[in-house]
Amino acid sequence: MAHSDMVLAYIGLGGNLDSGATQPAQTLLQAASELNQLPHSRLIQLSPLYRSVPIGHDDQPDFINAVAALQTRLSAIELLGHLQALEQQHGRQRSPTQRNGPRTLDLDLLLYGQDAEQCIDLPTLQVPHPRLHQRAFVLRPLADIAPALHIPGQGPLSALLSQVSAQVLRQLPADADGNAALK
Ligand code: AMP
Repeated sequence: MAHSDMVLAYIGLGGNLDSGATQPAQTLLQAASELNQLPHSRLIQLSPLYRSVPIGHDDQPDFINAVAALQTRLSAIELLGHLQALEQQHGRQRSPTQRNGPRTLDLDLLLYGQDAEQCIDLPTLQVPHPRLHQRAFVLRPLADIAPALHIPGQGPLSALLSQVSAQVLRQLPADADGNAALK
C-alpha cells in the first residue's frame, strides 16, 4: 500500500538490445515516460543518455544508460515490483547465470528515501544498489541531475565519480530541443 510520505527515488536505466523494432535509446525514453505514469509517482528529472562499454562480458553491444529521479509514495518494494514489470513489458529475458549480460531494459533502484538516504537490506532488494558506487555509467548521469548527493555508506558522489574515471562513457548528443538523439 502506498504510504503518505512523498520520497525521492533514483532509478538507473540501461539496455543494449533492440526490443522488437525499438532501439535501446528509444526504449529508455519510453521507460522514463512509463515511470512518470506509475501510481502515486512523478518523474522529476531524467539525465542525458550515455553510451557505455559493457562491463564483464565484452562480446555484446555497448549499453545506453541514464538515471531518473522519481517522486513517489510507493514503498521501495512496491517500486521494485513496478520496475520489474516494466522490464518484462519491454521484452526483458532474465538469465539466471549471467549478471552483466545483454538486455533490452534494466531498471535498478539506486537510492530511495526522503533525501534518498534509506538503507534497505532484504533478500530481494538492497538499497543503495550494491554496485552503484563502482559504475561510471550510473555515477555520471546521477551527478548530472543530483551533483551534491551523498551515497549512504559510500560518501560524496563527486569523490566516487573521480574513482571511476577510467571507465569509457560517452554522452549522446541532444537535439535542438534538448532531447537525447536516438542513435
Ligand atoms: P538485474 O539482473 O541487475 O536486473 O538484477 C535483478 C535482481 O536483483 C532481482 O532479483 C532483484 O530482486 C535484485 N535486486 C536487489 N537489489 C536491487 C535494486 N536495488 N534494484 C534492482 N534490483 C535489485
